[in-house]
Amino acid sequence: MSTSKVEEKLFQNRYKIDSGRPHIAIKNQSVCADQCKTQQCLTCCPAGCYTAEGGGQILLTTDGCLECGTCRVICTEHRNVAWEYPRGGYGILFKFG
Ligand code: SF4
Ligand code: SF4
Repeated sequence: MSTSKVEEKLFQNRYKIDSGRPHIAIKNQSVCADQCKTQQCLTCCPAGCYTAEGGGQILLTTDGCLECGTCRVICTEHRNVAWEYPRGGYGILFKFG
């Protein structure tokens, strides 16, 4: 039985970037900065796609996204995440599971 860690397994995944067509987007940055007190996307994403910028702005980088859908669910209060699956042939290629 394999004893490798989750991080090691995630590193085995491959991601094909659909240049210029991110499948997830923040709809309105001012909502993040002015209305969202918790900014849970910063801590909920297992791939670390959301990072804090100055002034409450959020930087979203979809490279490496696991397509888990957590960020869409966690942002239900403000519904500020536009989320769809990548086009066929793009996105995550899981090696395990
Ligand atoms: S949880 Fe939604 S509204 Fe709040 S900072 Fe993240 S993307 Fe913006
Ligand atoms: S779908 Fe999952 S992995 Fe992708 S950005 Fe959202 S929380 Fe992160």
